[in-house]
Amino acid sequence: IYGEERRNSRGHNLAVLSELNPFMEGLRKWSSHEWQATPIVNGERCKSDARTTVTCPHDQSRKAGIMSWSRPDLVEKALKTAHESFEGWNQTPAEQRARCLEAYADRMEANEHELIALCSREAGKSLLDGIAEVREAVDFCRYYAMQARRQFAEPMEMPGPTGESNEYYLEGRGVFLCISPWNFPLAIFTGQIMAALAAGNTVLAKPAEQASLIAYRATELMLEAGFPPGVIQLIPGEGAGIGKQVLSDPRLAGVTFTGSTTVAHIISQTLAARKGPIIPLIAETGGQNAMIVDSSALPEQVVKDVIMSAFGSAGQRCSALRVLYVQDDVADAIEETLAGAMRDLRLGDPEKLETDVGPVIDRDSYRVLMGHVEELRASHRIVGEAPLADSCERGFFVPPVAYEITSIESLDQEYFGPILHVVRYDAQDLDKVIDEINGAGYGLTLGIHSRSESTAAYIERRVKVGNTYINRNQVGAVVGVQPFGGRGLSGTGPKAGGPNYLPRFATERVRSNNT
Ligand code: GLU
Repeated sequence: IYGEERRNSRGHNLAVLSELNPFMEGLRKWSSHEWQATPIVNGERCKSDARTTVTCPHDQSRKAGIMSWSRPDLVEKALKTAHESFEGWNQTPAEQRARCLEAYADRMEANEHELIALCSREAGKSLLDGIAEVREAVDFCRYYAMQARRQFAEPMEMPGPTGESNEYYLEGRGVFLCISPWNFPLAIFTGQIMAALAAGNTVLAKPAEQASLIAYRATELMLEAGFPPGVIQLIPGEGAGIGKQVLSDPRLAGVTFTGSTTVAHIISQTLAARKGPIIPLIAETGGQNAMIVDSSALPEQVVKDVIMSAFGSAGQRCSALRVLYVQDDVADAIEETLAGAMRDLRLGDPEKLETDVGPVIDRDSYRVLMGHVEELRASHRIVGEAPLADSCERGFFVPPVAYEITSIESLDQEYFGPILHVVRYDAQDLDKVIDEINGAGYGLTLGIHSRSESTAAYIERRVKVGNTYINRNQVGAVVGVQPFGGRGLSGTGPKAGGPNYLPRFATERVRSNNT
């Protein structure tokens, strides 16, 4: 069942001018466009007077567009529509649903330049990250389309006594609430919704407030692709209010959420307090992700992978490296190389090709991160930092920085940005390191750099995470290649882009027929 009859989307070699130029022209073409976002209920764009101007994270003087918020009466209408549309969509053959997913993937590819520009203007994504974002979204669609055909088209015959037919099959649960984050504003928004729809559910999509423009444009493309208007309702707006209204509603049949561990706990508690049906929560939350580097590792490779894992996407990935454990015999050499590489990182406008690290998402995030840097600066040894360029004055730029700390245990929370913590350890204390990492309670990604296969295998087995990466970076999970998701404080476990994801959105049924 793990064989493939599909391929992931094609990459681009931006070192080749003929491949790069169309993207640069695309960014230029959309550089002063202003987007609009409104709730979309039953295919209708619903403008409201509650509006916000959306500015660019890298330049507060630039406008990305305007978003209208969902009022409670509209949220009610969205719930009603999604509820009434469920049976029809659930009865729609899996093949037809799969084709809608593929048509949406095609629509995204056809509008790639606009989507990349939007990712940059609204979410501060670099061109490389924008390209990866669209590719991942496209790959989710095609992968889940394939899985829908495999898992939802035909019932599975079960063995039984002669004269009796026994069939096992999957179907949708009902209305799914999809709450998506701003850090993968297109890919995760798309992945959640497509998984829910492929499995036969209808969807209320509540994107992060910071990514409403992208969500709106993506929803338009879904409708153009042929999804019936009743099956996707877009309800942008403020999370707490919408959550309160929808989570306790008896018409809701499931929730998928990607975001902070704190909010996942609130959702879980709200669902637990509800009357009526008990419904599933699929949560993908944060990480206090570590990398363990022993003295057999190749220093240059380690540094390259640390830079990518800790500072790529300005550290705003839940998979990002937060705590680097380095064996003390090689720590000086690795820290020195790392400091040199960090000095070369260029912070700046995400639309410029020479930029390595863009802005963080907003003022709140900036304040929390800079506050943490202040604390580190007061009493910890600095390992390295990237310079802040003059062009960074108008946006939320946190220069990548690394400080030594004594243990992962001293971190009180996940700091979602380009801040790396380095811990030196003695070779004899490897088990203590492993216990500390497990003790932090998260379980998302782990990096291991070691040329000793037995050491790598030992660490991999003992550290309890969802995704382990050996002798490479630990970010950028690829659909169908590294199914992604964690455990403990990092989530409920289902792996996005993996073979068992769609069934988590479905209900299992058995039909036993004495013919
Ligand atoms: N799947 C992404 C990665 O592997 C991270 C997703 C997230 O940040 O929520 O880097």
